[in-house]
Amino acid sequence: MSCRFCLTESTESYFGSWCARCHRLQRLISLFGGDKVMSILENVLIVDKDTQKEKIKEELKGELTTREYNLRARKEADSK
Ligand SMILES: [Zn+2]
Repeated sequence: MSCRFCLTESTESYFGSWCARCHRLQRLISLFGGDKVMSILENVLIVDKDTQKEKIKEELKGELTTREYNLRARKEADSK
């Protein structure tokens, strides 16, 4: 049986209607909210290629800054 949501993957179990990937999507939606997930997908995917590169860089930069900050905070805590 194919997934009722994406229609491309097979369902996780015989009685299930969704595939494993769509179940994960559902979890993300319930964690972050459908609007947020949708706007991220639209911002990242539905743009022209140059803008897409910039967006990905921006997303990564945000992620790296957060990690750097966490590392620094940890180091400071260790040195005390
Ligand atoms: Zn699916």
